[in-house]
Amino acid sequence: VKGLMTGKRGLIMGVANDRSIAWGIAKAVAAQGGEMAFTYQGEALERRVKPLAASIGADIVVPCDVTDDASIDATFATLKQRWGSLDFVVHAIAFSDKDELKGKYVDTTRGNFARTLDISCFSFAAVAKRAKDMMPNGGSLVTLTYLGAERVMPHYNVMGVAKAALECSVRYLAADLGDQGIRVNSISAGPIKTLAASGIGDFRQILRWNELNAPLARNVTIEDVGGAGLYFVSDLSKGVTGELHHVDAGYNVVGMLRPESAAE
Ligand code: NAD
Repeated sequence: VKGLMTGKRGLIMGVANDRSIAWGIAKAVAAQGGEMAFTYQGEALERRVKPLAASIGADIVVPCDVTDDASIDATFATLKQRWGSLDFVVHAIAFSDKDELKGKYVDTTRGNFARTLDISCFSFAAVAKRAKDMMPNGGSLVTLTYLGAERVMPHYNVMGVAKAALECSVRYLAADLGDQGIRVNSISAGPIKTLAASGIGDFRQILRWNELNAPLARNVTIEDVGGAGLYFVSDLSKGVTGELHHVDAGYNVVGMLRPESAAE
């Protein structure tokens, strides 16, 4: 394919299956001729990620657990050896204990707080640190966030706090890496039924609420987020960094319910 991404190489982190947001972005990039490598977490997911990668002609598929520095180092060592340089990274990784994605934030434990922030926020900085050394011609780093960082959403709890830290991290990384021509942005996706989302309490109700109240009167898809991801990793967004971009059918701008949905 000859397209917007022809000649560009990037790493996609966070594909678990074909419903993953990372896969929505990978499909959009592949359709524009971009070349990609994939990481997966754990053997169980290897079986799912390998065939997906193969379907778009990608043969670099490596394990990476972002809680382990050696594992992140090994991923970038492989990329260095295979490609030498890198143009973009998509970070679509988050985790929190399911038991704390229901009930109240006030009950968050110290251990899960630290783990949630480590996997869902620090890992992006850890990846950026390695990626920048492979981006002599500049590059683009993108992460995924959610409105629960900006507003209180039921059950999102410590993940909201982690996403707020991640969004702030995006601004600091953008400032750190701008002089190397590396852009850092985040996409705030509306709710999508994925493996990670299934851990969030009453997720079906959140989906329904968004559908009823978003200006576009629907939920977003991984293809919708894929389009925005393509924009951020391509030169179309070459003047954009430090940005938080909502792909949520407009839900974030709404200040009051539609009277007809309030009646339901
Ligand atoms: P997903 O389950 O498909 O992807 C989450 C990924 O995180 C998985 O691939 C999992 O393996 C990976 N991961 C978790 N812990 C890891 C670790 N220690 N090391 C390496 N990888 C690890 O779900 P998704 O919804 O596509 O999630 C992708 C991103 O999008 C997450 O950051 C999530 O918070 C964000 N997001 C999701 C939604 C939604 O409604 N689904 C909305 C906004 C933002």
